[in-house]
Amino acid sequence: MSALILTGKEPAQKLLDGLRDKVEKLDPKLVIVQVGDDASSASYIRKKMESTRAIGMRSEHLHLPSDTSFEALVDTVRSLNDNPDVSAFLVQSPLPKHLHSRYPEVMREVDPKKDADGFTAYNVGKMFLSAEYEHLAPATASAVIEMLSFYAVPVEGKHVVIVGRSNIVGKPLAVMLINRGATVTVCNSKTKDLGAITSQADILISAVGKPKLITVDMVKKGAVVIDVGITRDEEGLKGDVDFETVNEIASAISPVPGGVGPLTVACLLRNCVRAKERQ
Ligand code: NAP
Repeated sequence: MSALILTGKEPAQKLLDGLRDKVEKLDPKLVIVQVGDDASSASYIRKKMESTRAIGMRSEHLHLPSDTSFEALVDTVRSLNDNPDVSAFLVQSPLPKHLHSRYPEVMREVDPKKDADGFTAYNVGKMFLSAEYEHLAPATASAVIEMLSFYAVPVEGKHVVIVGRSNIVGKPLAVMLINRGATVTVCNSKTKDLGAITSQADILISAVGKPKLITVDMVKKGAVVIDVGITRDEEGLKGDVDFETVNEIASAISPVPGGVGPLTVACLLRNCVRAKERQ
């Protein structure tokens, strides 16, 4: 039997519709800073800008040349911090090679009140307190939580296995699930016998970026499977999960594309509205 397909479009639309009134009242503005011309970034930024327009939110794409110096990028961040017209902003990653390792230093300059991505130490730290403090949480982790909630997938008391421990997806998502009463296991590239762990999951979430990493033998019958991974190749976008076979044994599965992605953008816009609400 095929699984329920957890598409992101409906929950994203619901979330965006819920923001319209606040957007009209508060008139927030989102700024996206891009350094250089990474092709994937360009596509993500286009989607983010389109979504702001769709709900009447002001937005600006600040596109800096690929040879922008660290000092110039920090100056840009500081001027956005100081600009009262800017409600929230983000620095799109990946940065060009010469800035790549300095991304944490750039993030350290971002005013947590304007942290659209929810990546600053202050906003990440707050999440550890409880779900009530997830004010500006990382958008992709929030998107997974929204997806589970929209499709009424219970989390409390469930064993959730997350594959991937990045600071922007795996780790914050683990904290958010712990806040909701799940028992969480987080795997990484050094995990021994990954399949033995993933096959214990009631809810399996993969955030790695390796197509077909999660095969049918690694999934418990009836599990809910959320695929966060995105790999772009000549055939298009691919998730981490071998969708065709896992679909046959999971109770529910999110597709790639059309799953977590649209919800991530909606959660980002919600962060912008929340930032403006507090200012
Ligand atoms: P990342 O920083 O590269 O992290 C990938 C994680 O996967 C790391 O923790 C890594 O472990 C782990 N990993 C790699 N190979 C593994 C293996 N064979 N077995 C188990 N774990 C393994 O990536 P990210 O930024 O978190 O993004 C993850 C994926 O989600 C990417 O495909 C990205 O494009 C996608 N993404 C999607 C959205 C969306 O809206 N849908 C948003 C953001 C990201 P180590 O830490 O040990 O290296």
